[in-house]
Amino acid sequence: MLNLILLGPPGAGKGTQAKRLQDRYGILQISTGDMLRAEVAAGSEVGREAKAVMESGALVSDDIIIRMLGNRIGQPDAAKGFILDGFPRTVPQAQALDRLLAGKGLKLDAVIELRVDDAALVERIAGRFTCARCGAGYHDSFKPPRVAGVCDVCGATEFSRRADDKRETVHARLDAYNRQTAPILPHYAAQGSLRSLDGMADIEAVARQIDAVLDGLRA
Ligand code: AMP
Repeated sequence: MLNLILLGPPGAGKGTQAKRLQDRYGILQISTGDMLRAEVAAGSEVGREAKAVMESGALVSDDIIIRMLGNRIGQPDAAKGFILDGFPRTVPQAQALDRLLAGKGLKLDAVIELRVDDAALVERIAGRFTCARCGAGYHDSFKPPRVAGVCDVCGATEFSRRADDKRETVHARLDAYNRQTAPILPHYAAQGSLRSLDGMADIEAVARQIDAVLDGLRA
């Protein structure tokens, strides 16, 4: 069992690395952002409440998020472990997670922070898009599809951009990270589980740093 948190500002590469860890270790990526986008797409009550907040770049209320995550952790597909991507994002969420894990007899193996400069994040986020069919991630300048307009992975020709990846919204999202999420770093530093990595490196180099942390856990 391997339970991880990936922490870092929007655009730091959490989703990319979480997907890779999911494939490599058979542990489940739990992205509260993906869960919320699914709720918005389904037009559920949670989705209707969250939509405008997400589009503004602010954080959805702790109550909604904690309830949603509580229902997700401990489901059978997380039996080998999980990677939390985009949660916790506030001190009350971190405290709720401690209680939730203690109640289920689970523990965190590592909290991995990806550190990236704010200026680089704006460029990364404003250029990113995904395949509408298989979800593969691309970037206008850093990772365009090999054949323009065609997904490398599944050959689809439809792509989508997140409503909150607009340049104007990115600043609000970075602000929310710096003001509300960065204060949880000392919580995990005090628990001795925090590992801070250089998220400015390319995808493969960041992956190698994460693997080195995970190898260290087994040693
Ligand atoms: P993400 O895909 O992680 O960048 O999340 C997209 C948006 O969903 C965020 O900007 C927030 O509005 C909302 N969101 C996702 N996860 C959380 C969370 N743990 N707490 C509060 N809001 C969240």
